[in-house]
Amino acid sequence: MAALAQVIRSDPAFVGRLIKAANGIIGYGRRPIVSVQDALTILGMPAVRNMALGFSLLNHYRSGACEGFDYARYWSHSLLTAVATQAITLRTRVAAPDETYCLGLLGRVGELALATLYPHDYTKILGDVQNDPLRLAELESRAFAMTNAELGAAMLADWGLPRLFTDSAFCTASGVECLQPEGSRDATLTLTLRLARQLGDLCLAPENERAAHLHRVKLAGSRLSFDEETLTTLSDGVFAEWLEWSALLNLHAEKLPPFEHMLKEAEKPVAPDVVQSPPVEKNVPAGVVEDSESDGQGERLLRVLIVEGDKSVRAMLRDALINGGYDVAEAGDGYMATEMALDFRPDMMLLASMLVDISGADLLRTLRKTRIGRAIYVVVMGDDAAEETVISAFDAGADDLLPKPINTRLLLAKIRAGRRLTALHYEIERDREEIRHFAAELAVSNRRLQEVALMDPLTGCPNRRFFTDRIAQEWAAAVRSARPLSCLMLDIDNFKVINDTYGHDVGDSVLRQVAASIRSALRGHDLVARTGGDEFIVLCPDTTIEAAMVCAERVRSGVEDAQVLSGLLHLKVTISVGVASRDQSVVDADSLLKRADQGLYIAKQGGRNQTAAVQLKPHIAGVA
Ligand code: GH3
Ligand code: MG
Repeated sequence: MAALAQVIRSDPAFVGRLIKAANGIIGYGRRPIVSVQDALTILGMPAVRNMALGFSLLNHYRSGACEGFDYARYWSHSLLTAVATQAITLRTRVAAPDETYCLGLLGRVGELALATLYPHDYTKILGDVQNDPLRLAELESRAFAMTNAELGAAMLADWGLPRLFTDSAFCTASGVECLQPEGSRDATLTLTLRLARQLGDLCLAPENERAAHLHRVKLAGSRLSFDEETLTTLSDGVFAEWLEWSALLNLHAEKLPPFEHMLKEAEKPVAPDVVQSPPVEKNVPAGVVEDSESDGQGERLLRVLIVEGDKSVRAMLRDALINGGYDVAEAGDGYMATEMALDFRPDMMLLASMLVDISGADLLRTLRKTRIGRAIYVVVMGDDAAEETVISAFDAGADDLLPKPINTRLLLAKIRAGRRLTALHYEIERDREEIRHFAAELAVSNRRLQEVALMDPLTGCPNRRFFTDRIAQEWAAAVRSARPLSCLMLDIDNFKVINDTYGHDVGDSVLRQVAASIRSALRGHDLVARTGGDEFIVLCPDTTIEAAMVCAERVRSGVEDAQVLSGLLHLKVTISVGVASRDQSVVDADSLLKRADQGLYIAKQGGRNQTAAVQLKPHIAGVA
């Protein structure tokens, strides 16, 4: 707590929000919270961490260069999903609610990343797809060799989120069902996220589309066994909490009608000749106003923040600056000044050397510890040009000094001089942003190259190189935790005949379809790789030989029953499978593979289209 308080104290704007949030909780009439430590105690660590996360993400990506990407909607939706995920997990208890909050908030981060990295290409793609998620995934894959769901899940994994979280985020973002059985943690978390996301869609939908979203919310709710009453309480709670969070994070949000009211409205029959939808401007949903922040792009007025306790001095400065062509904001005390530093993002600040709640030098020192505060050109206004005032102002980080009473011509001259420094600062920021952009692009290209190097392009399965690394890791993990590990080696029967009879293209198509059949018969954490021409290997962690035999049989019969089509051809394709498991006689990963290969040989010898395992018990060799 103390360490966190220390870190937070270095960000005055955040301190302001934090204290405001804590005071919101304790209610009126109680002694107000003024210290960071007290605010932390009142709000609790997880809530503060989540607030900090939302706050810092929003600060950096509130707007951006991707014109087709609706940043305001993205953040409102993510915040809604975060709040809803937390509320739903309180009921489904599938993970710690404050941890799932992060998952909700970051679940669509892949979209933000693509918009940030490829603003122009992504704008075009978003314009082409017209809200069709399947088409979006297809175009993303074509343009960037990955979908936003894949990139998002990879980012979450890079940040160290557990597999349960990354898998659920992936399934939700790509709109696919979880492969695990209903009721498992994976499936429940995926359903939790889906319901949260649909509540987000509902809240931000225009009124005339609410009925369709409500239907989806009810459907997702019923899969989690939520009745209408539970769903109503849950949703109303989420709507209310979303409003509070939006106020804290400075996001525009509008009050929504109670869930029950929405349900009733949705049930009303619609008169056929009534024009339902008011024209929706530029795709902006009800409840959200577009963020007009231009993010430093294009022409804009230089922003000057006046921090001065004396109203009449403030008014005089304001008039002079507005006449001089500046965009002006005012703060009467240090607390307001820190808030405004964040909201108004001034380029320059005129700071009185003494304020009611803090000295100008102290405020400046605190500001200079932050990224935003360091960038502001600060002119301190002193009551006289006394040596002490000058020294303490410059020590605290002032860029210039303006003696009081203020001479407006001198003031404007100093501001003009400051402009040069501010311009320089922007150039540095732009360069830095460009470097960040290149670094991110490089990271994505590396990821693509890595994928190309480790992926079989024909079937989309990992290749032998990937598999070799992975089996070594799985072997080590199984040995360390004394858990079983099984391996299936599969080979298509008489594949040469298919190639020779119908040609290589048909052979390729068969390979792709067999790979898909194999994948669909496996669990989420089994790994399937294409390790040779018509050979695949499946690694099954935590699986005994008995379970592996069942799995092998399921895969074999799955391939046999699958309709393999190529043009007008209906082909019958079968596979043979060798099965092996880690036991005392299998000393390393290589011997496990050899053992599976022996099983495969036996299956082929036995007439193909069958599974076989060789199990060497310590003193007895035999064939199962
Ligand atoms: P068996 O039942 O004994 O496995 O007989 P088989 O005919 O399947 O024999 P084998 O597994 O040795 O044959 C593999 C064939 O796969 C040989 C090769 O021409 C073909 N092959 C390898 N890679 C590809 C590929 O990428 N595409 C196609 N179409 N064929 C491939
Ligand atoms: Mg073969």
